[in-house]
Amino acid sequence: MTTPDTPSAAPYRFFDAHVVGVRPLGRSMVRITFGGPRLTGFASGGRDQRFKLFLPHPGQDTPLVPVEAGEDWFATWRTMDPAERGVMRSYTVRAQRTTAGGSTEVDVDFALHGTRTGDGTGRAKSGPAARWAAGARPGDRAILLGPTAPDNLGVDFRPPAGTEWVLLTADETALPAVAGILESLPERTRARVWIEVPDPEDIQTLATSADAEITWLVRSASPTADRHLTLDAVRAAQLPAGTPYAWIAGESGTVRALRRHLVGDRGFDRAAIMFTGYWRRGATEEQLVEEAVSGTGAAED
Ligand SMILES: Cc1cc2nc3c(=O)[nH]c(=O)nc-3n(C[C@H](O)[C@H](O)[C@H](O)COP(=O)(O)OP(=O)(O)OC[C@H]3O[C@@H](n4cnc5c(N)ncnc54)[C@H](O)[C@@H]3O)c2cc1C
Repeated sequence: MTTPDTPSAAPYRFFDAHVVGVRPLGRSMVRITFGGPRLTGFASGGRDQRFKLFLPHPGQDTPLVPVEAGEDWFATWRTMDPAERGVMRSYTVRAQRTTAGGSTEVDVDFALHGTRTGDGTGRAKSGPAARWAAGARPGDRAILLGPTAPDNLGVDFRPPAGTEWVLLTADETALPAVAGILESLPERTRARVWIEVPDPEDIQTLATSADAEITWLVRSASPTADRHLTLDAVRAAQLPAGTPYAWIAGESGTVRALRRHLVGDRGFDRAAIMFTGYWRRGATEEQLVEEAVSGTGAAED
């Protein structure tokens, strides 16, 4: 399974940015728009384009990232005090555009897990990125480690030639990626899509020219089944005939169970499944990165 990786170098580089817009998306997510003159050159490949985001700790003006270390930045960052070094997290480019004034803007949709009480995020644990996003204001500074060319290794959605239909599953953390993938699909591509969100208000209208059947699964409407909603829905589904390509992302345990179902019960070719744990219950992204570096992460089934 793909996990939060140790970021590679080219065609990626660091971009200084600041928040230029904040817009709530339903109850459990917020869209933060990054901009600023030093974001010029950022070049998203669309679809599920991932990048690394560095955030300051409370009380810091800007995240501390050893950009001057060049290709050794990651090794240097790891030696820094975790309480001081920039908080590094993985996110998806929801959209990129050039403004009328010629500057680059990048939208990122953040799940606000555990930052609110009395709504669908209240039962989840929080983390520094969710807390930062919940309190973000125009002018707040961040650093993006992002692509400098649209053709880059941070885009994973790559259906092979001969694919006849596409299966997508996501929770709210992978909703931005699924939204980007749906926008990219050629007209009339057959797609079956399951998206799990905390609250009915989190349901979005997603643009696509594909022949997409989108099923929204709402966790707050199903308090007892909230760990198996997507798996149960996919298990119960009648899937189209033809050669599939599956893209699965979200909580690691759910992603593994879905992949096992598709391979074991549905006969999907393993090579035709792109599956990524976007987060793991009970582990911070720092812990996942350390596991990836030391090779102690959970083995692939
Ligand atoms: C390639 C990739 C792309 C991603 N894109 C996005 C994106 O566009 N938008 C987005 O919101 N997230 C995205 N994520 C997921 C995001 O990186 C994680 O949710 C991350 O853990 C958030 O950092 P944090 O500081 O808030 O929490 P952490 O400090 O990492 O974790 C703290 C605690 O919160 C738990 N936790 C983490 N995320 C959730 C959650 N969603 N619900 C409930 N509990 C959680 C952890 O298990 C842990 O117990 C992506 C991940 C990857 C690998």
